[in-house]
Amino acid sequence: MILGVSRDAEDAEIKSAYRKLALKYHPDRNKEDGAAEHFKEAAEAYAVLSDGNKRRRYDQFGHAGVQGATGQSGGPGGMNVEDIFAQFGDIFGGRGGGLFENLFGGFQGSTGTTARGRSLRARVTIELEDVLNGTERTLVVRHRMNCGSCEGTGASPGTQPKTCPRCQGSGRVHQQRGFLAVASTCPECHGNGIVIPHPCDDCGGSGQVDKRSEIEVKIPAGIEEGAQIRVSGMGDAGPHGGAPGDLYVAVEIRDKEGFHRDGRDLYVELPISYPQAALGDRILVPTLEGDVKMSVPAGTPTGKLFRVRSHGLPKLHGGRRGDLLVRVYVDVPKKLGRDEKNLIKELQRLQKEQIEE
Ligand SMILES: [Zn+2]
Ligand SMILES: [Zn+2]
Repeated sequence: MILGVSRDAEDAEIKSAYRKLALKYHPDRNKEDGAAEHFKEAAEAYAVLSDGNKRRRYDQFGHAGVQGATGQSGGPGGMNVEDIFAQFGDIFGGRGGGLFENLFGGFQGSTGTTARGRSLRARVTIELEDVLNGTERTLVVRHRMNCGSCEGTGASPGTQPKTCPRCQGSGRVHQQRGFLAVASTCPECHGNGIVIPHPCDDCGGSGQVDKRSEIEVKIPAGIEEGAQIRVSGMGDAGPHGGAPGDLYVAVEIRDKEGFHRDGRDLYVELPISYPQAALGDRILVPTLEGDVKMSVPAGTPTGKLFRVRSHGLPKLHGGRRGDLLVRVYVDVPKKLGRDEKNLIKELQRLQKEQIEE
């Protein structure tokens, strides 16, 4: 069999086998004699196997039973590579699917629509404090920009680009290979549809030059770690006057010692002494805007969490500020003075008596 699959093959197996053959024999890639015929046969076999009626005919009569079955216009001469791929586009992920276009340079043709420029990525690191009010950073970006001398046309000033004489501006040339009309990228203009008789000196005819730009990036309050800010139009310029790509700035927030962030809320851990825990006290709590006072009530157990309202971080694009959550723990001193030791011994003696009573 042409596809090399059994007659009761599963759909997925058929598609996979067809795809392999299509890639192997596609006339744009395989210049060997007979490749085009193989390609077409494989396409026919696929149409047969994926269609129950035709499959029965094939099973009864073999290849001859379904001659021309794939061509919408009937005869085998009426079909070209584009038709076949239009019919079997699903194998390649449909129209606009990455594989389809990557492998075959896009049958949809590159004329009429100009490609967008490449998008670029950058990274900035800010401090946790910057999340409070937002900040600005100046980035130095190297990107491709339209050449100033030729205004992106690539043609030496005073001259004009011309329509490609070989493809008349379509960017594609058609060649007859047996009964197949094969379209390929025009070798004269590389698919652009235009040629430049007098290239610009500054950009060599590409219409673009490398440029360093200083770009101000506004980082909003409340931004999350890893968030990306899009700076529209600051990627590479599009080829031949196409729209520029964007610049994506990933924001990294430096860790701040002692602080832990959970969305809008901030967490800190704070040591208190045993007397403070037992008797209560007012203690100083660090925040991103300096210390604030907080009451610890008498009888506070170690690990207790206190909430200091509105001392967390703002929400992105507004809303109530988060809280600062303070976890206190009882700090046990490693070294004691003599008086401290005596007092604690006294405390121990008292507590033992209470238990024994
Ligand atoms: Zn130029
Ligand atoms: Zn051309």
